[in-house]
Parts: sequence; structure tokens; C-alpha cells
Amino acid sequence: MIYYSTNGKAPLATLQKAVVKGLAEDKGLYMPQSINPLPQSFFGSIQDLSFQEIAYQVADCFFGEDVEAEALRKIVYDTLSFDVPAVRVTDNIFSLELFHGPTLAFKDVGARFMARLLQYFIRDLKDSKDLKEVNVLVATSGDTGSAVANGFLGVEGIHVYVLYPKGKVSPIQECQFTTLGQNVTAVEVDGVFDDCQALVKSAFMDRELNERMQLTSANSINVARFLPQSFYYFYAYAQLKKLGLADNVVACVPSGNFGNICSALFGKRMGLPIKRFIAANNANDVFFHYLLTGIYTPRASVQTIANAMDVGDPSNFARIYDLYNSSHEAICADISGASYTDDQISGTMRECLKQTGYLLDPHGACGYRALQEGLREGEVGFFLETAHPAKFKQVVDDICGTDIEIPARLQAFMKGKKKSVPMGKDFGEFKSYLMSR
Ligand SMILES: *Cc1c(COP(=O)(O)O)cnc(C)c1O
Repeated sequence: MIYYSTNGKAPLATLQKAVVKGLAEDKGLYMPQSINPLPQSFFGSIQDLSFQEIAYQVADCFFGEDVEAEALRKIVYDTLSFDVPAVRVTDNIFSLELFHGPTLAFKDVGARFMARLLQYFIRDLKDSKDLKEVNVLVATSGDTGSAVANGFLGVEGIHVYVLYPKGKVSPIQECQFTTLGQNVTAVEVDGVFDDCQALVKSAFMDRELNERMQLTSANSINVARFLPQSFYYFYAYAQLKKLGLADNVVACVPSGNFGNICSALFGKRMGLPIKRFIAANNANDVFFHYLLTGIYTPRASVQTIANAMDVGDPSNFARIYDLYNSSHEAICADISGASYTDDQISGTMRECLKQTGYLLDPHGACGYRALQEGLREGEVGFFLETAHPAKFKQVVDDICGTDIEIPARLQAFMKGKKKSVPMGKDFGEFKSYLMSR
């Protein structure tokens, strides 16, 4: 498969280059030149296939030309070592629980896949004696850092730098990437998430730094992270089909950087029969305003209780815009939006628990509410429950009056000792730090 840049000014790239580089030379995002549809027969019997088998078939469409079949199958099967059940919350609303992986959030899927694919390609480079250590830079508002750090932990030939905004991620999130050690370094930036993202982007653009070290990104801009996220939309559809509820399916995605919903839109291009999509935002609702006005105006992010969605300039907007040939009308035909204040989010969490017994995390709550308000007659919706409520224990307990038990795999992180490198938001300081490594 050939990949082009959304900015159209960078050379075309192979999958290997797109994965290793992350961002194209012109700061654009890589897009596959074609999206292969899956055969009708696949959808005819999808309800009888396992998650791993479904995912392999989808992965084969994207990566089959570039990765040997057996290796790809192993990457997919190893990545998806946990289930993603669609749990019924009301008559017509399902929660697609993406939090059964090692760090209890959906980003485990993309991060684990990317770590394995990158390792596959590095092994290739090693054979050609062309190997430099690969340095993965990742900016995080919380969950990306933990998923990427854990996905790559101990992988030979790769060092991970996790940049996170000081004081703006929950203590439970923080310990998932600051206590690991080994090939993972946590960089604590005195700023907000957008500052972390800006540092990462500047690093990729800096010629001197790139001559010195091999840098790659594990943010959702990387094709190896965002494309695998399409797997679970197919699996959600399969589970609804098994229940005879797959005729008018609406997928609702709590969105921040828009990688997750973007992968759903790729799924649709591959033939996945999802009728329409809802992007649910917190107060950081730049995309919602774009839908309403046709004008995209990035702005500084504000802090909310759904902090993994606190993004003021979502990277993957460029991909959605490209996928729909810059047509506002075409985008609006497939996607609608919603935006909720912290009060609305917490109100929804309390109400859902009271009425259904289902405990939402603040991100999933945006998705649940958008379906509650937006589902039409005859439609069945699923929202992505993007993280386990225990990841936001303090917030959730305060709002819902619960005392959530922290799952054992989360508790294990909390025993470690925090180690981080303090950093200003000025690129010069970050660059000299990397140059001195
Ligand atoms: C990352 C994240 C989101 C937002 O996903 P995007 O792909 O950035 O839109 C939502 N919820 C949680 C819990 C997350 O970690």
C-alpha cells in the first residue's frame, strides 16, 4: 500500500516509512492511497467470527500487501488478547467496553498493534544492518501515554518518551507511565496537552534532531495506531447482528483528537454497514462548531472532567477532511455532533447509574448522552466506553457516590516509584535534552 500526505507536498511513502516516520515531511498525516472494501460474504457471516478473526480480515485489507500473512496474523492475535464486549445498557443503547486491556482504555488496541508492527519493521532494518535505535515520542493527556508505554515496554531497539502536562492527568494515569523505567522515560511538561503535542511536532520538523536520532510518533496520527482501531467497530456490528439488531446501527464516539472516530469512518468505506456516526465532545467542541458552521477554528483546550478529550485542535480532523474531499456537506451527511459541559457529564453519570445500574466514566458518559438525545425511531446505537471508570476513580466516586474497586492490574502500577524529567514548554529546552541523550 502506498501512503500520501494530507498536505500533498511530501513524497509518497511505503507502510514501513509511514509507521517509522509517523508524520509526513510536510507536517501532513499519512493516508492510504486506497481503501479496499471487504467482500459481501464477510458481512454475511461476520456474526459467527471471533474478534481476532474479524480483526485479521480487516487488517489484511490495510496491511496484507506489506506484512507477511503469518506475521500479521500473529500481530493481530497478540494485540487482541482481551475481549471488547457490547453490553446492553438500555433497550436500544449498548456500551462497547474497550477497557478490558492492560491499561484499561481503548488506546491499548492501537498501541499494542503499533508496537508489534514497528518491531516487525525494525527487525527488517536490523537484517539490513541499517539499525539505529528508534525513539518514540508521544504526547498524552493521560491514556495515550499509559497505553503506548505499556505496549512498548521492554521492546528491544525502541525507546519511548512520554510527554504529559504537569498536574493535568489523574494520579492513576500518571503512575502508568512514570513508574515503568526500562525503555520508557516520562517527560513532565509545564503546560497543557497542546504544548506537549506542539513539542512533539516541532521535534519531528527539526532537521538537526532528525539527523541525530530516528524519531517516530505513537500519537493517533500514526497509521499503525489509528487504523487498527477500526477492528472493534466491525466486532460491535457483529455482536449486534447476532442479536438481530444490526439494521439501523448508529456508532457514537467520545472524541478528542478524532483518531477513534476516523478509524470508524475508514470502516464504513470498507463496507461496514453503520448508518451514521455521532462525535460526542466535552466543552472542547471545535469539531461540533465545524459541523454547525462549516468553519474549522482551533482554539486552546480547556480542562474538563473528561480530560482525555481536552483537545483544542484535533490532529485527525485533517484526515476526516481529506477522506471526504473537503466537503462539509458530505461530512455532515455521515457525522453529527454533540457537546457537553462538565455539569451535563456528571448529571448523565448519576442518572445512568440510577436508571440502569451501569457505571459510566466521564468520556463514555458523553457518548451515552449523545445517543440518548440523538437516536431516532428504529435505530440501535452503541457508544464507545473508552476507559474503565476506575481510571478516573476520584472524579467518578465524587460524582456518583460510589467507591469503585480498582482492578488488580491497575493497582500494580500504583506501587511503583514515580520518575519523570521536568521540562518547560519551550522547544529549545526539549531539543537540547534529546540531543544530549
Ligand atoms: C483518547 C481518549 C479519547 C479520545 O479519543 P480520540 O481518538 O483522541 O478522539 C476518549 N476517551 C478516552 C478515555 C481516551 O483515552
